[in-house]
Amino acid sequence: MDMDSLNLWYQKIARPLPWRENHDPYRIWVSEIMLQQTQVETVISYYLRFLKRFPTLKSLAESDEQEVLTLWSGLGYYRRAKNLRKGAQYLLSLRGEFPRTRDEILRVPGIGPYTAGAILSIAFDLPEALVDGNVQRVFARYFGFQESVQSSKAQKFFWSKAQTWVNTATSPRIHNQALMELGSLICKKGTPLCHQCPIKPSCVAFKKNLQQKLPIPKNRKPSQEVHWLAAVFHKTLRGKDLYWLKQNIGTQWWDGLWEFPRVDKPLKQKWNDSVKFLEKTYGKDFHYIPLNHAQHSVTHHKIRVAPYLIHTSKIPSPIDGKWLTPDQISQLPLSALAKKIFRQLPMC
Ligand code: SF4
Repeated sequence: MDMDSLNLWYQKIARPLPWRENHDPYRIWVSEIMLQQTQVETVISYYLRFLKRFPTLKSLAESDEQEVLTLWSGLGYYRRAKNLRKGAQYLLSLRGEFPRTRDEILRVPGIGPYTAGAILSIAFDLPEALVDGNVQRVFARYFGFQESVQSSKAQKFFWSKAQTWVNTATSPRIHNQALMELGSLICKKGTPLCHQCPIKPSCVAFKKNLQQKLPIPKNRKPSQEVHWLAAVFHKTLRGKDLYWLKQNIGTQWWDGLWEFPRVDKPLKQKWNDSVKFLEKTYGKDFHYIPLNHAQHSVTHHKIRVAPYLIHTSKIPSPIDGKWLTPDQISQLPLSALAKKIFRQLPMC
């Protein structure tokens, strides 16, 4: 049967990843949250650093949010880190025990249906389904599912199949990991490696040569451009470089992280006119020195920022923030764009 072949295959090829060293639910939870929207190769070093600093649920629950964000800085989707910390606090209030039912574990902040299935099956070997992007792709091809994976019909179909499969697995822990590993290593996006696939005998896409057509993608929102100018205020004090940074509070992106003050640039305005625009905002008393543009994508927004170095000891009001040395800046949770700008500064 295909499912037995899949599970045997996984036991032979499973990658020795750090979160697979034991079945500690806390470690599995941290890894699953980090792995959302992020590649395994990227996550490994973040995971090891995070676990070194916060080896237990208690240590994370009692942590400072800024420190958690600093360790997360660069992984993106910072709400994940904040919810992880909140979730740890919630669990500590339950004596630090992870619930063992889906209904109860879904009450933990930041734990949704996928993470609930991952923790319950991988940590406790319970027959609870999980469906992520990898599983959707495998199922859409294996069952020849011909509708958008986004539709509620598709979601119902995938979850129901995932539950049926895991119910009959000898080890739900092995089975769910096998399914995800198959999506990650073999049934890849683009061209899958069907000749290496343990479930190809019954795969509809393989039999009908539909691998390239399935899954039917989500209807993606068109990407929107956003343009900013960043003011990199700089001064030297007693031989030390200092830069002015501010912390984002309640912002749409990078809430709680630190940035160089920014100004929205109207899209219709040319980049050549940026200095005029800065002069209008901050005045003509400064010399605006252009740095390299930086880019970053968040959800369906493409953000492009033109940073300008400004040597001054007086910050124009009402910009809040504080003067910081490069050493202090490197200890802070920075937004992805602030990191890219920071790396360009001559003394860093
Ligand atoms: S046979 Fe190919 S398309 Fe089908 S599940 Fe395996 S890798 Fe995916």
